[in-house]
Amino acid sequence: MRSTRGGKRSRKKYVVIPGDGDPCPRCGKPMQIREYADFNEKQENRGTFYTRWFCCMNESCKTTLVMPARYKVA
Ligand SMILES: [Zn+2]
Repeated sequence: MRSTRGGKRSRKKYVVIPGDGDPCPRCGKPMQIREYADFNEKQENRGTFYTRWFCCMNESCKTTLVMPARYKVA
């Protein structure tokens, strides 16, 4: 049997913004605000992306990432 656990290293691509984000649409708790730590052309070339997003830190909540439309850049 093959293990699907890869050895991919994930660089830290975001920074956590102090303060509360929007309430989670599922559990209603304030979410963590995150922003790109290293904003560069690569993201820009991918077309649509988000400058900021929210992350629900509630472990019992199925929602993890929320991409608000107001942070969308086309
Ligand atoms: Zn939640």
